[in-house]
Amino acid sequence: MKIWLNGGLQDAEGARVSVFDHGLTVGDGVFETIKAEHGRAFALTRHLERLTTSARGLGLPDPDLDEVRRGCAAVLDANPMALGRLRLTYTGGVSPLGSDRGDAGPTLVIALSETQRRPDATAAVTVPWTRNERGALAGLKTTSYGENVVALARARERDASEALFANTVGALCEGTGSNVFVVLDGELHTPPLHSGCLAGITRALTVAWAGAKETDLPLDALERAEEIFLTSTLRDVQAVTRIDDRQLGDGPGPVTAEAMRIFDEQSAADFDPR
Ligand code: PLP
Repeated sequence: MKIWLNGGLQDAEGARVSVFDHGLTVGDGVFETIKAEHGRAFALTRHLERLTTSARGLGLPDPDLDEVRRGCAAVLDANPMALGRLRLTYTGGVSPLGSDRGDAGPTLVIALSETQRRPDATAAVTVPWTRNERGALAGLKTTSYGENVVALARARERDASEALFANTVGALCEGTGSNVFVVLDGELHTPPLHSGCLAGITRALTVAWAGAKETDLPLDALERAEEIFLTSTLRDVQAVTRIDDRQLGDGPGPVTAEAMRIFDEQSAADFDPR
């Protein structure tokens, strides 16, 4: 396995990042997960725009997108596979313990791992913790994912693959690694970005293609929803057929099935041609 580290390809086995990297010591970093099919990255330009937005939000220098593109291409060429996930990690770089970000320059790592297509349906749970829609990191894809790790562990304990958060005013927000859509009275809704959710790329495409409304929703909309689905780079559009202890059928409902169909059809055109 070859990875990209600060300007060149290396063997993943031997590649080393300093134990004093600010990304490791204080979570001072941003990341992207990008789907790649047969060496072609999905929605690459959108991911690179979001990487830049997240970096700016954290006060990191803008990533060199020419290098990022070269790195993605090199990693994809060096590790052929049918379906993979590219992981871009961009951190504040090396600085002594207890100090502010140093001037050694950022660290860029691009890795790839093989992945499977997700099942069409899954279970999700709600968790008692909140997303802070007014926090400094709201909407940024930072490596400070500890809260998501804890919430996902809670979901796993309950045989679910995703945990859903409300925000500080009790509005439905998002999952640990996905956005959420609900069908209420036959209409498709998803929380707006001011709920504090990440500007998911799959979310944006689904809003555009499936005509979802961006609506402030209370968390208990999940109790009333006729259908629920999740969107993310690795899930695409995935039905939720159990929310907490409530069963919502045993497969995607009609609105979800249609959103899945449209997503599969339209997204085929958005793979990086290279
Ligand atoms: N929300 C969070 C917190 C995420 O980490 C992710 C995906 O990484 C998403 C939503 C979905 O975003 P995307 O569709 O761009 O993968």
